[in-house]
Amino acid sequence: MELSEATEHQLIQDAAPLVVPRSEHTLSRSQVSSQALKVLYGLKDAGYEAYLVGGCVRDLLLGHKPKDFDVATDASPEQVNRLFRKSRLIGRRFKLVHVGFGRDVIEVATFRAPPEATQHIDEQGKIVQDNVFGTLEQDAWRRDFTINALYYNIRDFSIIDYTGGIADLQAGKIRLIGDVETRYREDPVRMLRAIRFVGKLNLKLDENTAYHLPRLAKLLVNIPAARLFDECLKLYLTGNAVPTHNLLVQYGIFDLLFPKSGNILKMEPEGLAVKLLNRALENTDKRIEESKPVTPAFLFAAILWGPVAREWQQNQDHNISAIPALQQAAINVISRQVQRVAIPKRFTLVTKDIWIMQIRLNMRQGKRGYRLLSHPKFRAAYDFLLLRVDSGEPYEELAEWWTAFQFSTEDEQQKMVAALAPDKQKKRRRKRKPSVTKVAENKV
Ligand code: ATP
Ligand code: MG
Repeated sequence: MELSEATEHQLIQDAAPLVVPRSEHTLSRSQVSSQALKVLYGLKDAGYEAYLVGGCVRDLLLGHKPKDFDVATDASPEQVNRLFRKSRLIGRRFKLVHVGFGRDVIEVATFRAPPEATQHIDEQGKIVQDNVFGTLEQDAWRRDFTINALYYNIRDFSIIDYTGGIADLQAGKIRLIGDVETRYREDPVRMLRAIRFVGKLNLKLDENTAYHLPRLAKLLVNIPAARLFDECLKLYLTGNAVPTHNLLVQYGIFDLLFPKSGNILKMEPEGLAVKLLNRALENTDKRIEESKPVTPAFLFAAILWGPVAREWQQNQDHNISAIPALQQAAINVISRQVQRVAIPKRFTLVTKDIWIMQIRLNMRQGKRGYRLLSHPKFRAAYDFLLLRVDSGEPYEELAEWWTAFQFSTEDEQQKMVAALAPDKQKKRRRKRKPSVTKVAENKV
Protein backbone atom coordinates (compact mmCIF):
# COMPACT_ATOMS: atom_id res chain seq x y z
CA MET A 1 0.00 0.00 0.00
CA GLU A 2 1.39 3.35 -1.07
CA LEU A 3 0.27 6.20 1.21
CA SER A 4 0.10 9.78 -0.03
CA GLU A 5 2.29 12.33 1.71
CA ALA A 6 -0.80 13.94 3.25
CA THR A 7 -2.16 10.65 4.59
CA GLU A 8 1.22 9.70 5.95
CA HIS A 9 1.44 13.07 7.66
CA GLN A 10 -2.08 12.60 9.08
CA LEU A 11 -1.12 9.18 10.44
CA ILE A 12 1.94 10.62 12.13
CA GLN A 13 -0.14 13.46 13.52
CA ASP A 14 -2.71 11.06 14.93
CA ALA A 15 -0.13 8.91 16.68
CA ALA A 16 0.38 9.25 20.43
CA PRO A 17 3.38 11.35 21.41
CA LEU A 18 6.66 9.85 22.47
CA VAL A 19 7.14 10.51 26.18
CA VAL A 20 10.74 10.15 27.31
CA PRO A 21 10.84 9.69 31.11
CA ARG A 22 13.43 11.54 33.23
CA SER A 23 15.52 8.40 33.61
CA GLU A 24 16.02 8.17 29.84
CA HIS A 25 17.18 11.67 28.92
CA THR A 26 19.98 13.97 29.95
CA LEU A 27 18.13 17.22 30.62
CA SER A 28 18.46 18.04 34.29
CA ARG A 29 16.86 20.81 36.34
CA SER A 30 20.29 21.99 37.42
CA GLN A 31 20.85 23.19 33.84
CA VAL A 32 17.71 25.29 33.86
CA SER A 33 17.89 28.91 35.04
CA SER A 34 16.38 29.59 38.44
CA GLN A 35 14.10 32.21 36.87
CA ALA A 36 12.71 29.74 34.36
CA LEU A 37 12.13 27.26 37.17
CA LYS A 38 10.26 29.91 39.17
CA VAL A 39 7.95 30.54 36.23
CA LEU A 40 7.41 26.83 35.58
CA TYR A 41 6.62 26.08 39.22
CA GLY A 42 4.51 29.22 39.55
CA LEU A 43 2.32 28.05 36.68
CA LYS A 44 2.19 24.46 37.89
CA ASP A 45 1.26 25.46 41.45
CA ALA A 46 -1.55 27.59 40.09
CA GLY A 47 -2.92 24.50 38.37
CA TYR A 48 -1.72 25.14 34.82
CA GLU A 49 0.39 23.03 32.51
CA ALA A 50 3.92 24.33 32.15
CA TYR A 51 6.74 23.23 29.86
CA LEU A 52 10.12 24.39 28.72
CA VAL A 53 10.08 24.40 24.95
CA GLY A 54 12.05 25.36 21.88
CA GLY A 55 15.72 26.24 21.65
CA CYS A 56 16.48 25.63 25.32
CA VAL A 57 15.32 22.00 25.31
CA ARG A 58 17.04 21.38 21.97
CA ASP A 59 20.31 23.00 23.07
CA LEU A 60 20.43 21.23 26.43
CA LEU A 61 19.84 17.84 24.81
CA LEU A 62 22.66 18.61 22.37
CA GLY A 63 24.95 19.63 25.22
CA HIS A 64 24.96 23.37 24.37
CA LYS A 65 24.27 26.28 26.68
CA PRO A 66 20.85 27.74 25.83
CA LYS A 67 20.59 31.41 24.89
CA ASP A 68 17.34 31.81 26.78
CA PHE A 69 14.50 29.76 28.26
CA ASP A 70 11.04 29.77 26.73
CA VAL A 71 7.98 28.47 28.52
CA ALA A 72 4.71 27.15 27.05
CA THR A 73 1.49 26.83 29.01
CA ASP A 74 -2.26 26.35 28.74
CA ALA A 75 -2.82 29.54 30.78
CA SER A 76 -3.95 32.48 28.66
CA PRO A 77 -1.61 35.49 28.38
CA GLU A 78 -3.91 37.42 30.70
CA GLN A 79 -3.87 34.62 33.28
CA VAL A 80 -0.07 34.48 33.13
CA ASN A 81 0.07 38.24 33.45
CA ARG A 82 -2.11 38.13 36.58
CA LEU A 83 -0.03 35.34 38.11
CA PHE A 84 3.35 37.09 37.97
CA ARG A 85 3.74 40.51 39.47
CA LYS A 86 6.59 41.66 37.25
CA SER A 87 5.15 40.58 33.94
CA ARG A 88 3.76 42.31 30.89
CA LEU A 89 1.81 41.41 27.80
CA ILE A 90 3.65 41.96 24.54
CA GLY A 91 3.06 41.47 20.80
CA ARG A 92 -0.01 41.81 18.65
CA ARG A 93 0.32 39.28 15.83
CA PHE A 94 1.64 36.95 18.47
CA LYS A 95 0.61 37.72 22.05
CA LEU A 96 3.12 36.68 24.71
CA VAL A 97 3.96 37.44 28.31
CA HIS A 98 7.38 38.55 29.48
CA VAL A 99 8.08 37.74 33.09
CA GLY A 100 10.89 39.98 34.31
CA PHE A 101 13.68 39.15 36.73
CA GLY A 102 15.93 42.19 36.83
CA ARG A 103 17.48 42.31 33.38
CA ASP A 104 16.45 38.77 32.50
CA VAL A 105 13.15 37.90 30.90
CA ILE A 106 11.37 34.58 30.63
CA GLU A 107 9.03 34.45 27.67
CA VAL A 108 5.77 32.62 28.30
CA ALA A 109 3.60 31.62 25.34
CA THR A 110 0.13 30.12 25.47
CA PHE A 111 -0.37 26.98 23.34
CA ARG A 112 -1.32 28.01 19.80
CA ALA A 113 -3.73 26.29 17.42
CA PRO A 114 -2.88 26.02 13.70
CA PRO A 115 -3.85 29.14 11.73
CA GLU A 116 -7.35 28.86 10.22
CA ALA A 117 -6.92 28.90 6.44
CA THR A 118 -9.62 31.43 5.69
CA GLN A 119 -8.95 34.13 8.22
CA HIS A 120 -5.32 34.14 9.07
CA ILE A 121 -3.40 33.47 5.87
CA ASP A 122 -2.81 35.92 3.01
CA GLU A 123 -2.75 35.15 -0.73
CA GLN A 124 0.96 34.14 -0.64
CA GLY A 125 0.21 31.63 2.11
CA LYS A 126 1.69 33.86 4.82
CA ILE A 127 0.31 33.84 8.37
CA VAL A 128 -0.98 37.29 9.27
CA GLN A 129 -2.69 36.49 12.57
CA ASP A 130 -1.59 33.92 15.09
CA ASN A 131 -3.56 34.30 18.28
CA VAL A 132 -5.86 31.29 18.33
CA PHE A 133 -5.08 29.30 21.42
CA GLY A 134 -5.02 25.51 21.39
CA THR A 135 -3.72 22.34 23.01
CA LEU A 136 -0.18 21.18 23.66
CA GLU A 137 -0.45 18.84 20.69
CA GLN A 138 -1.61 21.62 18.36
CA ASP A 139 1.13 23.85 19.67
CA ALA A 140 3.73 21.23 18.81
CA TRP A 141 2.58 20.89 15.20
CA ARG A 142 2.64 24.60 14.49
CA ARG A 143 6.25 25.05 15.59
CA ASP A 144 8.90 25.27 12.89
CA PHE A 145 11.33 22.36 13.18
CA THR A 146 10.90 19.00 14.88
CA ILE A 147 13.93 19.63 17.09
CA ASN A 148 12.29 22.87 18.26
CA ALA A 149 9.06 21.16 19.26
CA LEU A 150 10.23 19.20 22.30
CA TYR A 151 8.54 19.94 25.64
CA TYR A 152 10.11 19.44 29.05
CA ASN A 153 7.28 18.81 31.50
CA ILE A 154 7.82 20.37 34.92
CA ARG A 155 5.25 17.97 36.43
CA ASP A 156 7.33 14.81 35.94
CA PHE A 157 10.50 16.02 34.14
CA SER A 158 9.70 13.96 31.07
CA ILE A 159 10.18 15.16 27.49
CA ILE A 160 7.17 15.07 25.19
CA ASP A 161 7.74 14.66 21.47
CA TYR A 162 4.84 14.76 19.00
CA THR A 163 6.75 15.41 15.79
CA GLY A 164 9.78 13.12 15.81
CA GLY A 165 12.20 15.69 17.20
CA ILE A 166 14.09 13.22 19.39
CA ALA A 167 14.79 10.92 16.43
CA ASP A 168 15.88 13.90 14.34
CA LEU A 169 18.18 15.15 17.10
CA GLN A 170 19.75 11.71 17.24
CA ALA A 171 20.12 11.64 13.45
CA GLY A 172 21.49 15.21 13.44
CA LYS A 173 18.71 16.50 11.18
CA ILE A 174 16.87 19.76 10.92
CA ARG A 175 13.44 18.97 9.55
CA LEU A 176 10.57 21.36 9.01
CA ILE A 177 7.35 20.05 10.53
CA GLY A 178 4.59 19.24 8.02
CA ASP A 179 4.46 20.12 4.34
CA VAL A 180 7.67 21.99 3.63
CA GLU A 181 6.42 24.40 0.99
CA THR A 182 3.30 25.32 2.99
CA ARG A 183 5.37 25.95 6.11
CA TYR A 184 7.90 28.14 4.28
CA ARG A 185 5.06 30.08 2.69
CA GLU A 186 3.35 30.59 6.05
CA ASP A 187 6.48 32.28 7.32
CA PRO A 188 9.42 32.64 4.92
CA VAL A 189 11.71 33.59 7.83
CA ARG A 190 11.73 29.87 8.59
CA MET A 191 14.17 29.59 5.67
CA LEU A 192 16.60 31.85 7.50
CA ARG A 193 16.02 29.97 10.72
CA ALA A 194 16.76 26.65 8.99
CA ILE A 195 20.10 27.99 7.83
CA ARG A 196 20.88 29.61 11.14
CA PHE A 197 20.38 26.34 12.99
CA VAL A 198 22.63 24.45 10.57
CA GLY A 199 25.36 27.04 11.11
CA LYS A 200 24.86 27.10 14.86
CA LEU A 201 24.26 23.44 15.69
CA ASN A 202 26.30 21.84 12.96
CA LEU A 203 23.42 19.55 12.03
CA LYS A 204 22.25 18.77 8.48
CA LEU A 205 19.16 20.00 6.74
CA ASP A 206 16.73 17.24 5.96
CA GLU A 207 16.63 16.67 2.19
CA ASN A 208 13.13 18.03 1.67
CA THR A 209 13.69 20.97 4.00
CA ALA A 210 16.73 21.93 1.91
CA TYR A 211 15.20 21.16 -1.48
CA HIS A 212 12.63 23.98 -1.45
CA LEU A 213 14.99 26.67 -0.21
CA PRO A 214 16.42 28.10 -3.45
CA ARG A 215 13.02 28.19 -5.15
CA LEU A 216 11.13 29.82 -2.30
CA ALA A 217 13.90 32.18 -1.19
CA LYS A 218 12.28 35.00 -3.16
CA LEU A 219 9.35 35.01 -0.69
CA LEU A 220 11.70 36.77 1.72
CA VAL A 221 11.17 40.01 -0.18
CA ASN A 222 7.69 40.17 1.40
CA ILE A 223 9.07 40.14 4.92
CA PRO A 224 9.26 43.51 6.67
CA ALA A 225 12.78 44.93 6.40
CA ALA A 226 12.97 45.47 10.17
CA ARG A 227 12.40 41.76 10.85
CA LEU A 228 15.07 40.86 8.29
CA PHE A 229 17.50 43.16 10.07
CA ASP A 230 16.89 41.30 13.36
CA GLU A 231 17.37 37.98 11.60
CA CYS A 232 20.59 39.18 9.94
CA LEU A 233 22.08 39.98 13.31
CA LYS A 234 21.23 36.48 14.52
CA LEU A 235 22.70 35.00 11.35
CA TYR A 236 25.93 36.99 11.37
CA LEU A 237 26.63 38.08 14.94
CA THR A 238 26.19 34.97 17.04
CA GLY A 239 29.51 33.27 16.45
CA ASN A 240 28.83 31.18 13.35
CA ALA A 241 29.00 33.79 10.62
CA VAL A 242 31.35 31.83 8.32
CA PRO A 243 29.36 28.60 7.91
CA THR A 244 26.07 30.51 7.98
CA HIS A 245 27.17 32.94 5.27
CA ASN A 246 28.34 30.09 3.05
CA LEU A 247 24.95 28.42 3.37
CA LEU A 248 23.12 31.67 2.62
CA VAL A 249 25.18 32.02 -0.54
CA GLN A 250 24.76 28.36 -1.47
CA TYR A 251 20.95 28.53 -1.23
CA GLY A 252 20.64 31.84 -3.07
CA ILE A 253 19.44 33.68 0.03
CA PHE A 254 22.37 36.06 0.42
CA ASP A 255 21.41 37.46 -2.98
CA LEU A 256 17.96 38.33 -1.70
CA LEU A 257 19.15 39.92 1.51
CA PHE A 258 22.01 41.86 -0.06
CA PRO A 259 21.32 42.09 -3.81
CA LYS A 260 24.25 44.36 -4.74
CA SER A 261 26.77 42.41 -2.69
CA GLY A 262 25.36 39.21 -4.15
CA ASN A 263 26.03 40.57 -7.64
CA ILE A 264 29.65 41.33 -6.84
CA LEU A 265 30.03 37.86 -5.40
CA LYS A 266 28.82 36.38 -8.66
CA MET A 267 30.83 38.66 -10.92
CA GLU A 268 34.09 38.55 -8.97
CA PRO A 269 34.01 35.50 -6.72
CA GLU A 270 37.77 35.71 -6.20
CA GLY A 271 37.80 39.51 -5.96
CA LEU A 272 39.19 41.66 -3.16
CA ALA A 273 35.78 42.60 -1.76
CA VAL A 274 34.77 38.96 -1.41
CA LYS A 275 38.04 38.17 0.31
CA LEU A 276 37.53 41.13 2.63
CA LEU A 277 34.06 39.93 3.58
CA ASN A 278 35.30 36.42 4.30
CA ARG A 279 38.10 37.76 6.47
CA ALA A 280 35.68 40.03 8.30
CA LEU A 281 33.37 37.11 9.05
CA GLU A 282 36.26 34.99 10.32
CA ASN A 283 37.31 37.84 12.60
CA THR A 284 33.75 38.33 13.81
CA ASP A 285 33.45 34.69 14.85
CA LYS A 286 36.84 34.84 16.54
CA ARG A 287 35.94 37.99 18.46
CA ILE A 288 32.71 36.43 19.70
CA GLU A 289 34.56 33.35 20.81
CA GLU A 290 36.93 35.59 22.76
CA SER A 291 33.94 37.52 24.22
CA LYS A 292 35.04 40.72 22.49
CA PRO A 293 32.36 43.13 21.30
CA VAL A 294 31.19 43.12 17.69
CA THR A 295 29.22 45.85 15.99
CA PRO A 296 26.59 45.65 13.27
CA ALA A 297 28.09 48.81 11.72
CA PHE A 298 31.38 47.04 11.01
CA LEU A 299 29.62 43.92 9.74
CA PHE A 300 27.57 45.93 7.24
CA ALA A 301 30.65 47.95 6.24
CA ALA A 302 32.24 44.64 5.24
CA ILE A 303 29.16 43.15 3.55
CA LEU A 304 28.53 46.29 1.48
CA TRP A 305 32.13 47.23 0.73
CA GLY A 306 32.07 45.46 -2.65
CA PRO A 307 29.24 47.53 -4.15
CA VAL A 308 30.49 50.72 -2.49
CA ALA A 309 34.06 50.33 -3.76
CA ARG A 310 32.73 49.62 -7.23
CA GLU A 311 30.43 52.64 -7.33
CA TRP A 312 33.16 54.80 -5.82
CA GLN A 313 35.46 53.83 -8.67
CA GLN A 314 32.75 54.51 -11.24
CA ASN A 315 32.15 57.96 -9.75
CA GLN A 316 35.84 58.74 -9.90
CA ASP A 317 35.91 57.59 -13.51
CA HIS A 318 33.34 60.33 -14.06
CA ASN A 319 35.81 62.86 -12.66
CA ILE A 320 34.25 63.23 -9.24
CA SER A 321 37.00 63.64 -6.68
CA ALA A 322 37.65 60.93 -4.12
CA ILE A 323 35.72 62.08 -1.06
CA PRO A 324 32.46 63.12 -2.73
CA ALA A 325 32.71 60.08 -4.99
CA LEU A 326 32.85 57.81 -1.96
CA GLN A 327 30.17 59.74 -0.09
CA GLN A 328 27.82 59.45 -3.02
CA ALA A 329 28.52 55.74 -3.40
CA ALA A 330 27.96 55.17 0.32
CA ILE A 331 24.64 57.01 0.34
CA ASN A 332 23.40 55.18 -2.75
CA VAL A 333 24.33 51.71 -1.63
CA ILE A 334 22.96 52.18 1.88
CA SER A 335 19.70 53.80 0.81
CA ARG A 336 18.99 50.90 -1.53
CA GLN A 337 20.05 48.28 0.99
CA VAL A 338 17.87 49.52 3.86
CA GLN A 339 14.78 48.94 1.73
CA ARG A 340 15.47 45.22 2.02
CA VAL A 341 17.19 44.99 5.41
CA ALA A 342 16.32 47.93 7.65
CA ILE A 343 19.70 48.72 9.19
CA PRO A 344 18.98 51.50 11.70
CA LYS A 345 20.55 54.87 11.09
CA ARG A 346 22.68 54.71 14.23
CA PHE A 347 24.56 51.88 12.52
CA THR A 348 24.61 53.16 8.94
CA LEU A 349 26.12 56.46 10.11
CA VAL A 350 29.03 54.55 11.60
CA THR A 351 29.29 52.31 8.54
CA LYS A 352 29.69 55.44 6.40
CA ASP A 353 32.27 56.84 8.82
CA ILE A 354 34.30 53.66 8.54
CA TRP A 355 34.34 53.97 4.75
CA ILE A 356 35.04 57.70 4.55
CA MET A 357 37.85 57.34 7.05
CA GLN A 358 39.58 55.02 4.58
CA ILE A 359 40.45 58.20 2.69
CA ARG A 360 41.22 60.25 5.73
CA LEU A 361 43.64 57.63 7.06
CA ASN A 362 45.84 58.62 4.17
CA MET A 363 45.90 62.26 5.27
CA ARG A 364 48.31 62.23 8.14
CA GLN A 365 50.25 65.47 7.82
CA GLY A 366 50.37 68.15 10.48
CA LYS A 367 47.71 67.74 13.14
CA ARG A 368 45.51 65.48 11.04
CA GLY A 369 47.03 62.21 12.21
CA TYR A 370 46.50 63.14 15.86
CA ARG A 371 42.96 64.26 15.20
CA LEU A 372 42.12 61.01 13.47
CA LEU A 373 43.57 59.01 16.32
CA SER A 374 41.12 60.60 18.74
CA HIS A 375 38.16 60.13 16.38
CA PRO A 376 35.63 57.80 18.10
CA LYS A 377 35.52 55.56 15.06
CA PHE A 378 39.28 55.47 14.48
CA ARG A 379 39.64 51.94 15.79
CA ALA A 380 36.92 50.58 13.53
CA ALA A 381 38.32 52.40 10.50
CA TYR A 382 41.84 51.16 11.26
CA ASP A 383 40.58 47.59 11.69
CA PHE A 384 38.82 47.96 8.35
CA LEU A 385 42.06 49.14 6.74
CA LEU A 386 43.81 46.05 8.12
CA LEU A 387 41.10 43.91 6.58
CA ARG A 388 41.65 45.58 3.23
CA VAL A 389 45.35 44.88 3.46
CA ASP A 390 44.65 41.31 4.54
CA SER A 391 42.47 40.78 1.51
CA GLY A 392 45.22 41.99 -0.81
CA GLU A 393 44.75 45.76 -1.22
CA PRO A 394 48.11 47.56 -1.47
CA TYR A 395 48.12 49.56 1.77
CA GLU A 396 50.60 47.65 3.93
CA GLU A 397 52.76 50.70 4.48
CA LEU A 398 49.87 52.89 5.50
CA ALA A 399 48.56 50.21 7.87
CA GLU A 400 52.01 49.69 9.38
CA TRP A 401 52.38 53.43 9.86
CA TRP A 402 49.11 53.58 11.80
CA THR A 403 49.94 50.51 13.83
CA ALA A 404 53.23 52.12 14.87
CA PHE A 405 51.73 55.58 15.38
CA GLN A 406 49.12 54.35 17.86
CA PHE A 407 51.63 52.67 20.08
CA SER A 408 54.39 55.31 19.92
CA THR A 409 55.39 57.91 22.48
CA GLU A 410 54.61 61.54 21.75
CA ASP A 411 58.19 62.15 20.67
CA GLU A 412 58.15 59.26 18.29
CA GLN A 413 54.83 60.33 16.91
CA GLN A 414 56.16 63.80 16.18
CA LYS A 415 59.07 62.25 14.34
CA MET A 416 56.74 60.06 12.33
CA VAL A 417 54.63 63.00 11.25
CA ALA A 418 57.72 65.09 10.51
CA ALA A 419 59.05 62.27 8.39
CA LEU A 420 55.95 62.54 6.26
CA ALA A 421 56.13 66.28 5.78
CA PRO A 422 59.62 67.12 4.45
CA ASP A 423 59.24 65.28 1.18
CA LYS A 424 56.20 67.28 0.43
CA GLN A 425 57.86 70.58 1.35
CA LYS A 426 60.98 69.80 -0.64
CA LYS A 427 58.86 68.98 -3.62
CA ARG A 428 57.01 72.24 -3.25
CA ARG A 429 60.16 74.30 -2.98
CA ARG A 430 61.65 72.59 -5.95
CA LYS A 431 58.59 73.20 -8.00
CA ARG A 432 58.17 76.74 -6.60
CA LYS A 433 54.46 76.23 -6.35
CA PRO A 434 53.57 77.18 -2.76
CA SER A 435 49.87 77.17 -3.56
CA VAL A 436 49.73 73.41 -3.95
CA THR A 437 48.31 72.12 -0.69
CA LYS A 438 46.32 69.04 -1.58
CA VAL A 439 48.36 65.99 -0.98
CA ALA A 440 47.53 62.40 -1.50
CA GLU A 441 43.84 62.88 -0.79
CA ASN A 442 42.80 61.08 -3.90
CA LYS A 443 45.07 58.17 -3.49
CA VAL A 444 43.30 55.56 -1.48
P1 ATP B 1 17.56 30.39 19.66
O1 ATP B 1 16.82 31.13 20.74
O2 ATP B 1 18.65 29.52 20.14
O3 ATP B 1 17.98 31.26 18.56
P2 ATP B 1 15.03 29.14 19.32
O4 ATP B 1 14.61 27.89 18.59
O5 ATP B 1 14.76 29.15 20.77
O6 ATP B 1 16.53 29.39 18.97
P3 ATP B 1 13.34 31.43 19.20
O7 ATP B 1 13.26 32.47 18.17
O8 ATP B 1 13.72 31.78 20.59
O9 ATP B 1 14.31 30.33 18.61
O10 ATP B 1 11.93 30.70 19.21
C1 ATP B 1 11.50 29.82 20.24
C2 ATP B 1 10.66 28.68 19.65
O11 ATP B 1 9.50 29.23 19.04
C3 ATP B 1 11.33 27.88 18.56
O12 ATP B 1 12.17 26.88 19.05
C4 ATP B 1 10.14 27.34 17.80
O13 ATP B 1 9.58 26.24 18.46
C5 ATP B 1 9.17 28.49 17.87
N1 ATP B 1 9.30 29.37 16.70
C6 ATP B 1 10.09 30.47 16.59
N2 ATP B 1 9.96 31.05 15.40
C7 ATP B 1 9.07 30.32 14.72
C8 ATP B 1 8.49 30.42 13.43
N3 ATP B 1 8.85 31.38 12.59
N4 ATP B 1 7.58 29.48 13.08
C9 ATP B 1 7.22 28.51 13.93
N5 ATP B 1 7.72 28.36 15.15
C10 ATP B 1 8.62 29.24 15.56
MG1 MG C 1 15.05 30.85 22.11
